[in-house]
Amino acid sequence: MGVAPRNAFPNAFTVDLEEWFQGLTSTNRQVERWEAFESRVVPATHLLLGILRQYGVRATFFTLGHVADRQPALIDAIYAEGHELGIHGYYHRFVYRLTPAEFDGEVGRSIEAVMRVNGEIPQGHRAPYFSVNATTPWAFEVLARHGLRYDSSVFPTRNMLYGFPGAPRLPYRVAENTLWELPASTVRWAGKTWPMSGGFYVRALPYAITRWALRRLQQAGEPAILYIHPWELDLGQRYNQVTPRERITHYHGRHGLAAKLHRLFTDFRFGPMRDLVANLEGEQPPAPANKPVGMPTVDTGMAHG
Ligand SMILES: [Zn+2]
Repeated sequence: MGVAPRNAFPNAFTVDLEEWFQGLTSTNRQVERWEAFESRVVPATHLLLGILRQYGVRATFFTLGHVADRQPALIDAIYAEGHELGIHGYYHRFVYRLTPAEFDGEVGRSIEAVMRVNGEIPQGHRAPYFSVNATTPWAFEVLARHGLRYDSSVFPTRNMLYGFPGAPRLPYRVAENTLWELPASTVRWAGKTWPMSGGFYVRALPYAITRWALRRLQQAGEPAILYIHPWELDLGQRYNQVTPRERITHYHGRHGLAAKLHRLFTDFRFGPMRDLVANLEGEQPPAPANKPVGMPTVDTGMAHG
């Protein structure tokens, strides 16, 4: 049930590229209102790009097709800085609320939107809200049919919004071995599987806990797969109709997030998902990712952290 990569490898840093109103569960389904909301994805993403640039981190941006079609210059800028472009659906729909045919349409349309910008076929997909679970056994086949190489849509434990308890924690092959599934990272502790890898967890947990969890994974030879949304860094949002749950899931801890990212990129190495997949397949080691400040420059072959 899942394999660790052959070589100690940097963690993967991923971004789910979407507008704040596409991520909020209350406004997510009101597509007819989206054009009326203030678009903030461009400045928020540039904040994040600046931090990544500072540490030489190359990441994977799972891009919503709706954003790619409206902000092609932003997608261009991300690509020009050497980041990987993956897909995140077109309208940010929960996969388990779609039929296989509707999901097929979401995937196809988002691939086209990203390809219109950079001309390259994306390799990876992340479902909105990690909404691939036991009720969507057809999802992997749809992704494989579109020629994708990997998926990162399984959240192998349960939280307030979503989850796929009992799914493998480590990368595993699906769709008759034609596709890799790389679940969001969790950590095993006290006999349980704990979530730790997303923007919410990095925002909500003291940095020392995040660092402990990453070190624990690295000691086990398991690269962490972290994710974040640009809106988590946006302190200027003025929408005041958020639900009590969204106040926690979307807004709690935003003020401390940038400082935590600086510490994270100082303490650990990160690369894009495509390098992690290449490593799983035994391909040549990718070009070095960021060299954390204070880390030895000679690579000992051991996991960092
Ligand atoms: Zn999303």
